[in-house]
Amino acid sequence: MRILVTNDDGIHAPGIAALEEIAHALSDDVWVCAPSDNQTGAGHSLTLAMPVRLRKHAERRFSVTGTPTDAVSIGLKQVMEGEPDLILSGINAGANLGDDITYSGTVSAAMEGALAGVRSIAMSQVMKQDRPAWGDRFAAAREWGPKVIQPLLGTPFQPRTLVSVNFPCLAPEEVMGIRVARQGFHDYARASVVEGRDPRGQRYYWFGLDAIEHTPDHGTDLEAIAAGYVSVTPLQLDLTHRASLEPLAQRFNGR
Ligand code: MN
Repeated sequence: MRILVTNDDGIHAPGIAALEEIAHALSDDVWVCAPSDNQTGAGHSLTLAMPVRLRKHAERRFSVTGTPTDAVSIGLKQVMEGEPDLILSGINAGANLGDDITYSGTVSAAMEGALAGVRSIAMSQVMKQDRPAWGDRFAAAREWGPKVIQPLLGTPFQPRTLVSVNFPCLAPEEVMGIRVARQGFHDYARASVVEGRDPRGQRYYWFGLDAIEHTPDHGTDLEAIAAGYVSVTPLQLDLTHRASLEPLAQRFNGR
């Protein structure tokens, strides 16, 4: 089995090292192609207005000066010898739950993999800001990652679908189990914007990532994580809202 590992936190992030360990336990044919820098929040963006440079760090280990989507695309087209059987994206330092998915570079890398017809799984470790930065913050993902991946390897993925996995912010032995859950939604709140002045007196704005509330809703990824479970959410690239097709068609009928 040939595996491509990528992420959005960058090739030097601790989360990708944890994911590489998981991948190497599954296969000896593991390739890495990830952004050179932190691309959190890049969504499914492509670098178009400037060139992307590729750097080799070690055998089968590369970075690109671009987005997670660039990394998967270049990984598949330029770096790898032959198509992978599996793309693993992560392990993201932070949750990708509910509507966060559309901002997520981690999930978008898996979306790019799904578009290319490769079985793709995004993995994110929920973290809390007040939790100490030291210690193994990816312990739950390390322990539970293989337990999630193994059954997914034997499951057929429909075309243009992927799976997003979130691990709760708990010690591995505190995790309740695994739940398949649909994508939930947050109560809409704009990310906090902090205004400040840089050392040269120019004003800047910096987005914060405060915890956003959600109204409890049954069967969602948010609920599963809140209850201490690993959430496993199948996603599709087709964003069409099918129930609106017919009413809209009637609206435009004859125009
Ligand atoms: Mn990230």
